[in-house]
Amino acid sequence: MTTAETLRRPVAADALKTVLMHEHVIFLDEEMRRNHPELWDEGHVVAEPVEKLTGLAERGVSTIVDPTVVGPGRDVTRVARVNAHVDINMFVKGLTEGVADTGVRAGIAKCALDESLTPGVERVIRAVARAHLATGAPTVVHTSAPHKTGLVAQDVFRSKGVDPDARDLDHSGDADELDYVRTLIDQGSYMGMVRFGLGLYLPGEKRIANLVRLLDEGLADQLMLSDDASCHSDWLPPRTREQVAPSWHFAYLHQHVLPALRRAGVGEEQITTMFVDNPRRFLTRGRPS
Ligand SMILES: [Zn+2]
Repeated sequence: MTTAETLRRPVAADALKTVLMHEHVIFLDEEMRRNHPELWDEGHVVAEPVEKLTGLAERGVSTIVDPTVVGPGRDVTRVARVNAHVDINMFVKGLTEGVADTGVRAGIAKCALDESLTPGVERVIRAVARAHLATGAPTVVHTSAPHKTGLVAQDVFRSKGVDPDARDLDHSGDADELDYVRTLIDQGSYMGMVRFGLGLYLPGEKRIANLVRLLDEGLADQLMLSDDASCHSDWLPPRTREQVAPSWHFAYLHQHVLPALRRAGVGEEQITTMFVDNPRRFLTRGRPS
């Protein structure tokens, strides 16, 4: 039986069902907690994600991948406390032995390549490539579409011998230049079409129109959709967040994007391919069946 790693230990591939490939449960500035304990409310930090993930589960989502890296407050223990109250599978990092002393093993290896390939970033990407080669875990890369760094990531991974279908290039949906996305798809990798509600990079309507074009071209097999939202984040005050990015939340994909895709003629088969089949194939890649 092929399985994938989750916070609830290995889960059968068929039980993953509808997957959002890029969501953050908790995004925190750890220094704020240490320096302003009077503002800290641990109960709220756990309760808010429980409420939002319960909403996702009610909309039919079975599994989320949380690619939060070290820096924005990653704490697997806290996420596990959230997960205990929610009927949803969650992925984290720490491939073979588990993260910290939690015993939770990650299902993916993630790195970030934003504007350019600095020596430090290249070192991290090469380390992720080595981790993949050693464990078989699929890789997720934060990329910057305006800087076309998906192409750069492809080059580094290719040079290290990582198969193209073991790579998910996230934020590809920020690209308004579809030839950039087509080139990456042509090279065999998955495209993380995330941030539909984050119009700062590309308006949601434009993202949807671009996605429909790619689907019309028969490319559903390499597309995966997600919000890249956070259940709980202290990086912006809630009111500022609502002003700056009012649509960047967990309901946007299901309440706005999916109806728009259906109105544009996208079929249920393509939607299932992007939400169920592709994540299952990607997340269980290289694992014994
Ligand atoms: Zn993210």
